[in-house]
Order: sequence, then structure tokens, then C-alpha cells
Amino acid sequence: MSMTNSGAPRAYRQLIAGEWDEAEGGRTFDDINPYTGESFATIPASSAADMQRAIDAAHQAFPAWAAMGARARQALFLNAATILERRADEIVPLMAQENGATAPYARFQIQWAAGLLRQAAGYPYLPGGEIVQSDTPGVFAMAVRKPLGVVAGISPWNGAIALGFRTIVAPLACGNTVVLKPSEEAPMCAGILMGEILHEAGFPPGVVNVVTHAPGDIASVADPLFESPKVRAYNFTGSSATGAKLAARAGSKLKRIALELGGYNPMLVLKDADLHYAVDTAIFGAFFHQGQICMNTRKILVHRSLYETFLERFTARAQALQAGDPSKPDTKLGPLINEQAVAKVRHGIEQAVARGARVVAGGTWRGRCFDPTVLVDVPADAPIHCEEVFGPVVLIEAFDDEQEAVQAANATNYGLTASIMTSDVWRGITLGGQIQAGMVNVNGPTMGGEPQIPFGGVKDSGWARFGRWAIEMFTDLNLVTVSQNKRQYPL
Ligand code: NAD
Repeated sequence: MSMTNSGAPRAYRQLIAGEWDEAEGGRTFDDINPYTGESFATIPASSAADMQRAIDAAHQAFPAWAAMGARARQALFLNAATILERRADEIVPLMAQENGATAPYARFQIQWAAGLLRQAAGYPYLPGGEIVQSDTPGVFAMAVRKPLGVVAGISPWNGAIALGFRTIVAPLACGNTVVLKPSEEAPMCAGILMGEILHEAGFPPGVVNVVTHAPGDIASVADPLFESPKVRAYNFTGSSATGAKLAARAGSKLKRIALELGGYNPMLVLKDADLHYAVDTAIFGAFFHQGQICMNTRKILVHRSLYETFLERFTARAQALQAGDPSKPDTKLGPLINEQAVAKVRHGIEQAVARGARVVAGGTWRGRCFDPTVLVDVPADAPIHCEEVFGPVVLIEAFDDEQEAVQAANATNYGLTASIMTSDVWRGITLGGQIQAGMVNVNGPTMGGEPQIPFGGVKDSGWARFGRWAIEMFTDLNLVTVSQNKRQYPL
């Protein structure tokens, strides 16, 4: 719930047990607008005690929520979708303020999340299990899906609205209660907003809890999430480095964790590709949201016969794009999220240039606005050759042979998405099958995703799958048997 004082930053609260609360001791931190560098809101800076209260509330709310009838539960998700859409015009500027997101990216996420909520509204009506044949006459066996209990959603800052909802919607729709811990970089758009919408939609107290925390406090605040036996599973979206740490931590307590992690996504432009469309697709894939989306195109592999023309046209398009104030309707690219992000992008480029790479566009910045950057001749020992710097930087390389391009596409530990541009669709499908990625788009960008698809990666990009496949992740399958006849035993 927001409280607005004119002129002063808005003071937000967090949602615990159905109440809008301050953090223990009233501590807060500033929510910084990445474009202006100024605080636009204050956010509760929780402690481990706040987190424990949220876990206890979710645990207490679980039995009644799991037992709620399908129609009643469905209605709440449908209400939430309507409320989200009703608030769209207010959320778009908030996404610019907190996330540096331009209006098209914010609006894309709002319609995506509304779709997710409406699709999840159908989950309570999906088959809740199956009948299993028994070898013993007269025994009737049922495999029954059951919710797990309390699930923790840990969301990143970058696709705040879509991913804030994605970390909790499937667990909730499966009958779990949740504690959402949003990123400290987007506590409002990736957390409090979900709380506001689901609370207004009528989700009962304790079913959805949102706990925010200040930068630097994560270790102590997250402790109860990982130590409490009441938390049964995690839905994590974020970097591969954090995902690996949290998977080890969850594993040490034998709890499951869904991981959606980083990406280093290649685009292959085959010799028969439509060049104009390939350039258009690559520009969008590389630079939408300033390259701060897990699915952005990081490397473009172009058949040598098209390479020079592609490079020339792509570079001209990249140079024409300028980052600026995301709250202005005509701005195409906003700022990077914080100073560390700018430093990381700069460092990645500098390392490559020191090893012989050439910058053919961009490489320059003003404040947190980084110009779209194109690198060529990047040697394989430059980290940016296979690692995500999470900014508006793309590498372009020529290839002669398609198998060489497939090898180059797979020469990274990540495996989230890939794109193949060709007029021979079967060729695209065949090569796509050889690329180690959870999602391959023939004649589409590396970026995409609708709520119902089995979204997810392979290798260091994680193992979770969303859409209806998430149901397996957030339920247990329990066997119940009934014996019609008295059974004969060997003892
Ligand atoms: P991050 O890993 O820094 O943070 C993600 C979340 O983890 C945040 O909420 C953060 O507070 C939390 N976290 C960090 N350390 C923690 C700890 N010790 N205990 C508990 N929680 C902890 O990632 P980010 O910068 O927020 O997001 C960008 C990254 O996420 C990129 O690598 C991007 O590719 C990836 N990403 C992946 C997907 C996907 O669907 N595959 C989607 C969006 C972003």
C-alpha cells in the first residue's frame, strides 16, 4: 500500500499476514530512479525477524488455501488480471522510475502477466492426478497431486512485473502459499505491486506475503527462508552465480528449487536469410531494455556472404539508437539499472579491446545511459566472448560453414535461447535441434516468450520450465491405494 506525501518520496509498506507493515524498528531504504539517480520512494528494510513472520503467516494460511474450492480460487486470479490491467497507466511510469523501462517494455510485461494470471486461473481445474494400474486384483491406485506448503519466490529486478508474478503465480495456483522476496533493485515493481494486486483481488491473509530488504542485507534476511523447515521449495529467477549458491543451499536441506538463470543467446544468420528482416530482428534482440533481459541476443553469427552488408546496416541502426529518459514516450532505450551495471559493461568491453577486439558502434555512455555497442574481432579468451555482461553490447562474427556456426553458438556455458534466420525452415529446425538452448526460434528473435510456453534453459541457464509444466515443480505426486479384498501376505 502506498502513502503519498506531495513532494516527498512515497513511503511503501510490505505485506505480511494480510497487513501492510513497516519493517522491524521502522527501518527503510531509498528506491533509486536509475535515470535521475534520485530517490523516488522509501521501502521497508526488513530483518530476519520480518522474514520469519512472513514464513509463519504463509505456513498458517496454507491448509485453508490448499482446501479452497477450484471456482473460488479461479475467481481470485481472474480478479487479479483485471486489476493489473486497470492499473496499467499508473504502472508504466512506475516501471520507468524504478526500472528504467520504456513504455513498450512495461506494457509488454503487463499484458504478459495478465495472461499468466488468466491461464493460472485454469490450473485448479486441471486433472489433479491419474489412476495407476495395479498388479494386484481389487487394488485401486491413484497418483494425486498435492501442493507442497510454503514456497519462496525470489525475483530479479530486470523483467520486474512479469518475473515478480512468475515467481509466485504457478506456486499459488497449485495451492501453495508464498513469501515473495523481490530484488532490492525493484522492490516495488517486482514485489510490493504483486502484493497490492493480489491483496485487492481477495487472496486471503497470509497466502501472499512480500518482504523487502535493503541492498547489502540479503544474507541475514534470506537466512530464515533457507533454514526454516516450513519453506518447502524455491522459485528463483536471477543470475547463474546466485542460482548456483542458492541451489547448493536448498540442496543441503533436501529442498527443491526451480532455477531460471542467465543467458548468452546466439543468433545465426544463414546465407539464405532475408537480410532486412534479420537486421531488424537482431536490433530488437540485442538492444531491447538496454540488453538487460536474459534472452537478449549476445552474439550474431552471419554467413560470410552476407557479413559485410549485415555489419554495415546493423551498425548504422545501432548508432541511430540513443538511450535517454525512459519516462518520455518516444524514448527507445533507457538507462542501465545502477552504477555497477555500467562498470560491468565497460569492463567487459575494455577486456575485449585489450585483447584485440574492435568497437564499431557505441562503447560510450552518459551517466547510466550506455550507447548500443557492437564489437567485432573479439578473441575467444575475452570473457565477453561467452559471458553475459547484461547490457547493450553484441558481438558479430562471420562463419563459412553451418556446423562451425553451431559450434560457435554452443561455445558458452549458458543455454537459454537461440535464433536462426533462414528462408529454409527445415534447415532452421535441423540446426536448431543441434543448438544447446532451452528455446530456439526460427525466423524470430532470441527474445520472446508467452506465459503458456515451457519457458526455460539448459546448462548454466537453469532447469525450470514454466507454463503448465511448472505444476510438476510446485506439487508432490502422492500415491493412494484402496484394497477391495482382504490381501494374502507371506507372513
Ligand atoms: P541476482 O542473481 O543478482 O539477484 C536475483 C535475486 O536473488 C534478487 O532478488 C537478489 O536479492 C537475490 N539474491 C542474491 N543473493 C542472494 C542470497 N544470498 N540469498 C537469497 N537471495 C539472494 O540477479 P539480478 O541482477 O536481479 O537479475 C539479472 C540476472 O537474472 C541476469 O543474469 C539475467 O540473465 C537473469 N535472468 C534470468 C531470467 C530467466 O528467466 N532465465 C529472467 C530474468 C533475469
